[in-house]
Amino acid sequence: MLARSPQPIAYQLELTNHCPYTCQGCPRTHHMHRPLGMMSPETFRAVVDAVAPYQRNFWPMALHHMGEALLHAEIAEHVAYACSRGVPTSLACRPNHLTPERGEALLRAGLCMIVITVDALDTPTMRAITGKVANFEKAEENVRAFLDVRRKLDSPTKVMIQMIAYADNQHQWKAFEERFACSDPGVVVAVKRFSAWTVPELAQFGAASEKFLGGSCRRPFNSFVVLWDGRVVPCCRDHDGAVVLGNIHDGLDNVWNGPAYEAFREGFDDDALPKDHMCRGCSLYPWSPAAEKKSIATNAWIENEDPVAAYTPDWWMKSFGHRVVR
Ligand code: SF4
Repeated sequence: MLARSPQPIAYQLELTNHCPYTCQGCPRTHHMHRPLGMMSPETFRAVVDAVAPYQRNFWPMALHHMGEALLHAEIAEHVAYACSRGVPTSLACRPNHLTPERGEALLRAGLCMIVITVDALDTPTMRAITGKVANFEKAEENVRAFLDVRRKLDSPTKVMIQMIAYADNQHQWKAFEERFACSDPGVVVAVKRFSAWTVPELAQFGAASEKFLGGSCRRPFNSFVVLWDGRVVPCCRDHDGAVVLGNIHDGLDNVWNGPAYEAFREGFDDDALPKDHMCRGCSLYPWSPAAEKKSIATNAWIENEDPVAAYTPDWWMKSFGHRVVR
């Protein structure tokens, strides 16, 4: 039996796969075919209860996968519940739905970290990248209101304001950094490399891709992702539930130590996965021809004794600086 962590972390939990955006570089837009839905309170609590309290020793549980998590009506209540069980949470979102009320509710609930993606500095460019509901003026207003509320509450929630490196926004990278520059403690502003996930045709949209940063994935051995309906998949790159390894309602121990996960780990470690397996299209697959065989900081979080306390911008840059273009 292959070595695996006895304390697997919930890397991502999909509150919903509904989304108002149609981002050109997101696999959800044209490559996700599974039903849409919202995670139930029972499923959310089953995940949190399974990883409490050891998750705090490793990494915050991200509340997004495919979809815009801010559409989930109970997101703040879920953050508060996770907090009460000792499970830190993070969230990646776009700012159009980060209303001041939602933002304040999340800060008060104890969200550990939020990543806010601003895709462009004007509405036409933003719409070209993320679809017709995008509105730059509203996005900027919401980001600034969120930072104001954070200041007012003296909130410890860490903030990452990022622009993903699309070809269509390349001309705005420098202006983005200048416009959103923020000296508040705990706030990082950066342009992040584009990822094609496991869908090669998406690479055309990225101005700077991460294809040379792969070769170190150990996710099958240390973490898992839960889709809105409770199905467990191995990682954040499984956008369509291609590699379902069980259901959280069957018990995390049973899934994590079960035959489906073990067979997947064996195939993964021996490069014996089927030819059309999801991992073979991923830049992080250790056997990928595109991946440099070098150790990167992707798994540094596994060794961190107190990532919640250590989760500072400096630490983030040290651990994930390889993903930053500027
Ligand atoms: S190689 Fe890529 S697709 Fe496979 S488990 Fe790792 S991150 Fe996920």
